[in-house]
Amino acid sequence: MEQIGPFDVLVVGGGLAGLRAAIEAKRLGASVLLVAKSHPLRSHSSAAEGGIAAYIEGASDPNDSPLQHAYDTVKGSDWLADQDAVELMTKDAERAIIEMEKWGCLFSRDPDGKIARRPFGGHTYPRTRFAADKTGMCLLHTAFERALAEGVEMLYEFYVTDVVSDGERVYGVYGFDVKSGEDIFIKSKSVVLATGGGGLMYKFSTNSYLNSGDGYAIAARAGAKLADMEFIQFHPTALYPTNILITEAARGEGGYLINKEGERFMKRYAPDRMELAPRDLVARAIVNEIREGRGFEGGYVLLDLTHLGEEKIKERLPLVREVSIKFAKVDPVKEPIPVRPAAHYTMGGVKTDLDGATNVKGLFAAGEAACVSVHGANRLGSNSLLETLVFGRRAGMAAASYALSRSYPEPPKEALREAEARLWAPTTIESGLPFGEIRKRLGEVMWEKVGIERNEEGLKEALKEIAELLRLSKYVKGEKGPGAYELVAVHETINMVFNAYAVATAALWRRESRGAHFRTDYPKRNDSEWLYHTVMSWRGEWVMEKEPVVITRWPPEERKY
Ligand SMILES: Cc1cc2nc3c(=O)[nH]c(=O)nc-3n(C[C@H](O)[C@H](O)[C@H](O)COP(=O)(O)OP(=O)(O)OC[C@H]3O[C@@H](n4cnc5c(N)ncnc54)[C@H](O)[C@@H]3O)c2cc1C
Repeated sequence: MEQIGPFDVLVVGGGLAGLRAAIEAKRLGASVLLVAKSHPLRSHSSAAEGGIAAYIEGASDPNDSPLQHAYDTVKGSDWLADQDAVELMTKDAERAIIEMEKWGCLFSRDPDGKIARRPFGGHTYPRTRFAADKTGMCLLHTAFERALAEGVEMLYEFYVTDVVSDGERVYGVYGFDVKSGEDIFIKSKSVVLATGGGGLMYKFSTNSYLNSGDGYAIAARAGAKLADMEFIQFHPTALYPTNILITEAARGEGGYLINKEGERFMKRYAPDRMELAPRDLVARAIVNEIREGRGFEGGYVLLDLTHLGEEKIKERLPLVREVSIKFAKVDPVKEPIPVRPAAHYTMGGVKTDLDGATNVKGLFAAGEAACVSVHGANRLGSNSLLETLVFGRRAGMAAASYALSRSYPEPPKEALREAEARLWAPTTIESGLPFGEIRKRLGEVMWEKVGIERNEEGLKEALKEIAELLRLSKYVKGEKGPGAYELVAVHETINMVFNAYAVATAALWRRESRGAHFRTDYPKRNDSEWLYHTVMSWRGEWVMEKEPVVITRWPPEERKY
């Protein structure tokens, strides 16, 4: 085993949250190493299309404000978001956008030169800023270049298997260099997990193949708490049949959803906001149309952009057009696009405070890996990119100040031995299921029984199947040696099954419907018993607790659109 470090701050993840954290820590004088299992520019942040929400003084609707943005977010969250975190985020949004612009992100502009904005689901006023429909790509390149300019050291294609901790504090991370296949213990005083979301556990998902949600499993094994894991966002419009995202911007720019009868069915579900109701409502509406026989053969509805005209589609939605032509042989200028819902975003995650700190000293989390919580039971589109920048920066700041005031202690030998044994365990297996088989079974059961609609019977069946997959995942073989991609896939699979068990456990526990968590056996929201965060700790099994939601200004209301 090779050892490197100690560093002050070790960031795991080269997406927007990780890069932003690394930039801040470095600027504060900390020594920083950023590691990622991919090249940073391949992180899922690059796939974000629609945009990033922000009130900007002088470039917003005169009635809009950071407080209005915060209220919309709280309402969208079905009152489960912590209102102090939401307000902090919406007030910091303008600064975050202007900073990215000064660093070189070319946002689309109105003819008068102001940063343009488009409507997005659940936002009262148009406030989603964008670079055509390639916003994440633009932001990610900007943040990457900035991190290089600040002198952040980076190690690409390094797969982290574990945070080394004694359950109380961290000592660094354990993992392997995918190219050489060698294991390395990286010593560090603090660790920021910015490992992104876990949508890959579902059969239909818009997420990239990197999104196995490693950070949730890694944090839980290291003693950190997870929060609100039952809340998975299903995006209403993934391209049929490949599940590539068709951004909400397509509806923001004026696209309609229509069923087999040619009807704009959203009028029955959200008469005021129509296609721009929040995602949980639109996804359930589509499922209902299909169930009641108004979907198309194969299970999809249509997203019609033809009335927007060729010029607007080419200027504002070039990627939607390109993807539709390439993967569905449909040109949205001429014909409607076939779409169905798919798993998209993990609202829950590693439980943190407003500075990204977890209950394990020195362990921080940010971005989709974390639950601060600003999205509650349902995230509004374009709030996630904002979260990565606002809370990535704060986590970097807090991790640096934690590290700079401490010396590096000797790591406990037992924790290191355990991490080493876990890393190599798959290479000692003689035979077992291929990892693809486990992923296939997991994807099916999560989609069928822990999906858009859930109930007690289905969730109990799901837990049984996932428990069996957990057992089988210990017998998946991964080869040792250079180019250890198979070993990566095996560890990812183990983490995916572990996380799925958390999602299904939390979904069974919460006996109400709220936001994206829809229980057919408890179809109503129940504030008296469930206006709480689900908090879970891993002790060989999940130990569940409820924690109060922070409510500062906006007492719960009925959520109508
Ligand atoms: C198709 C799509 C479109 C979207 N569009 C929008 C949008 O328009 N607006 C919006 O606000 N949000 C959008 N989102 C959500 C948003 O893009 C993500 O939530 C956000 O970019 C996540 O950023 P992140 O930095 O937390 O993680 P990511 O960008 O996912 O980065 C995770 C990083 O962690 C690394 N990593 C993971 N595990 C390990 C490990 N074990 N070891 C080492 N490294 C590891 C990866 O290599 C990667 O570098 C979209 C999401 C998708 C899937």
